[in-house]
Amino acid sequence: MKKIPQFSSLHNHTIFCDGKDDIETMCRAAYEKKLCAVGFSAHAPITKKTGIESDWHMKDEVFGKYTEHVLAAKKRWRGKLEVLLGFEIDYIKGLRSALDRDITEVNPDYLIGSVHYLIPANGAKPFTVDGPQEEFSQGLNEGFNGDARALMNSYYDAQLEMIALGGFEILGHADLVKKNCIGKNLWPREEEVYRQKEIAHAVGNAAGNAAGNAAGKAAGNAGVIAEVNTGGINRKKINEVYPSETFLRVFRENNVPVIITADAHSAEEIKGNYNIAVKTILSAGFLDHVIIFRKSTKKIKYVKEKLLNFLAD
Ligand SMILES: [Zn+2]
Ligand SMILES: [Zn+2]
Repeated sequence: MKKIPQFSSLHNHTIFCDGKDDIETMCRAAYEKKLCAVGFSAHAPITKKTGIESDWHMKDEVFGKYTEHVLAAKKRWRGKLEVLLGFEIDYIKGLRSALDRDITEVNPDYLIGSVHYLIPANGAKPFTVDGPQEEFSQGLNEGFNGDARALMNSYYDAQLEMIALGGFEILGHADLVKKNCIGKNLWPREEEVYRQKEIAHAVGNAAGNAAGNAAGKAAGNAGVIAEVNTGGINRKKINEVYPSETFLRVFRENNVPVIITADAHSAEEIKGNYNIAVKTILSAGFLDHVIIFRKSTKKIKYVKEKLLNFLAD
């Protein structure tokens, strides 16, 4: 009998932030889709900490309720589905990071470290690289004088700072900055490849040096892992995973393990387009470094040739 790998889905949003479904509905979907683990990664609140207003982050007031609900689901599903408590935590220079006490003191199972915000050096308003096109263009013009190269560099600089600071297990959508730039002539492709190499190198080092990182210690050789995120495809914004196949190739060269995630904002997306992620990972040369979070432990498991069976299924 063919062995089909059991995937996890660890990047998920619910009604506690900007998702459509509640925790129980997401758990049920994960169980029906035969996932071995489902993790919740609410956008950790930023307003109290940074003063930035947001309609897509969890409100500071529901923080406690969120952790309670996830922990209750963990108990309810015990023996059937591994439920993990996580956060997607923004890195906002000097304002928010995975090392913040409010997050570490609830002892989450894992954290996804993501850069969404750029803080322009000229004092213009912080903005997100993945917001609506008009907002992005406004940020580009006001914050970077229309210089896409400067914007891109600012994004990867922030990501390098975040990796150096550490405290998280999964690097979120490493090239999210492409979302509003794909197909645009102004984009400095070659320079971006250079920055991707820097990122992959830094993550590779973090993956090799697991000191101080709970999941890294548990995994032995994997401190930080990079996600292969199908969220852009699931929500029909782009037709490829974050990060791109080229970027994944560089991750592979730097021995960065990867994990497939859906960045689901509804139950139906919980395993959305995993086949595209698998194909991309395989063509990027990952034959034995694809990992999942294994049932009942936080350990990481290599899936190897089973991925081919997944595609054939
Ligand atoms: Zn994100
Ligand atoms: Zn997300």
